[in-house]
Amino acid sequence: MDPIIKIDKLNVTYFMGKANEVRALSDINLEIFPEEFVIFFGPSGCGKSTLLYSISGLETNIQGDIYIEGKNLSHFKKAEYLNFHRSVIGMIFQAFYLIGSLTVAKNVTLPQVFLNIGKKERRQRAMDLLDYFGVKAQAKKLPAELSGGQQQRVAIARSLINDPKILMADEPVGNLDSKSAQDVMDLLKSLNEKQKKTVILVTHNPAFLSYAHRVVYLKDGRIIEIRVNRQVHGVRLEQAEARPNISKELELLIKTFTSLSPSQIGNLLIPFKAKQIVSEALIGMTTEEIDKIDKKVENLLMTGIYDTDTMMQFLDSEVEKGGLGMDKRSAVKIADKVKEIIKEIKILEEEENKLRFKATADTGSEVMEIRHYLLEAFDIKISNFLALETFNQAIRDRMANIMDRDAFRARLDLSVKEGGVGLDKRTAKKVAKRMELLILGKYK
Ligand code: ADP
Ligand code: MG
Repeated sequence: MDPIIKIDKLNVTYFMGKANEVRALSDINLEIFPEEFVIFFGPSGCGKSTLLYSISGLETNIQGDIYIEGKNLSHFKKAEYLNFHRSVIGMIFQAFYLIGSLTVAKNVTLPQVFLNIGKKERRQRAMDLLDYFGVKAQAKKLPAELSGGQQQRVAIARSLINDPKILMADEPVGNLDSKSAQDVMDLLKSLNEKQKKTVILVTHNPAFLSYAHRVVYLKDGRIIEIRVNRQVHGVRLEQAEARPNISKELELLIKTFTSLSPSQIGNLLIPFKAKQIVSEALIGMTTEEIDKIDKKVENLLMTGIYDTDTMMQFLDSEVEKGGLGMDKRSAVKIADKVKEIIKEIKILEEEENKLRFKATADTGSEVMEIRHYLLEAFDIKISNFLALETFNQAIRDRMANIMDRDAFRARLDLSVKEGGVGLDKRTAKKVAKRMELLILGKYK
């Protein structure tokens, strides 16, 4: 699959060579794929908007190359560039930029006035979009007569009037109350899923991260991490940080069984894995014996309960005693392999649970509230936003009981570099204890 956008060694420096030089973006390399929903995330000033505007061609003070559908943006002829802005990308901003003196319907059709499209057709498309966004009744009103959320819907309708492939949104819900913000985010999600739009969204609000297929974490003008939430086109994109403990082989299988969820793959794999495990020991055995091992290993994998003794007993005790009579060394090897595979399947299931829980974005504010409360209660200051996001995730996981109390404490204690929150041991212990009390409802 070819990327719809490719960014190659992008650098943006303001006031180059002056005392107040700002390196807004440094060495950005990134590929975005058709129908992906990508979020640029990071603290204020980290370069999110600059990156978005560079891709849209609005920021021209760039070094490096940006390719749109394989063509270098800086080599676009005038007509190509116009077409790019009119028909390939749609932009949505935090400030809605609606024209106050034009009706809602006219604001929406504005980008089409410059195209060779009849008035009637323009109006019909505008009304369809307004209808889709639930603001058809407001068509004849002026923007000021609408609520903030409604205005943003109109602005999104406008960005879609020319049916662009790519939607770019810079903090589109930054000015909205949380209910309207959620509605607008859901709209963007459905545009991505149902209308197959590629969506690039800039936000500094971690509550929305689960909407994206991939989240690009920016800091001081650099990409510091890319996290994959979901797959697009059934293609699991490379994650910057390798998933721990999952064998290359399993990773490959995930890529092959593209339409299935990790645990579905896990289940599907079980019979296959069982066969694979025993294949080493098959030489010289009858079909009946092979079937027997197959079933036994499959059962073991299915239950997920692994007991080395039982397995070893089965593998190396005499055939007459219901075993396989395998030599000890092969038996140990196979038993170890089974153990490893069970571990892998468990990891897959855990990951899936986490993703599922992450998808419920409406727990976002609750999580943040708990985090605030915990930090304040022990007068802890965390400024590293990765640490904060890890903290949020740990709270979510603990609340969903995906993570137990000890694991929660350990996550708080672990350094940020190793994927933790980076609290000191004693603080981590205190916070974890308070978290348990919170779960029990002792603090409101
Ligand atoms: P974000 O959108 O993540 O908040 P920006 O991309 O707007 O960050 O800004 C990144 C850095 O570049 C900031 O330090 C900002 O002050 C600076 N910057 C952005 N635009 C300009 C500009 N036109 N002139 C000078 N500095 C700029
Ligand atoms: Mg910005």
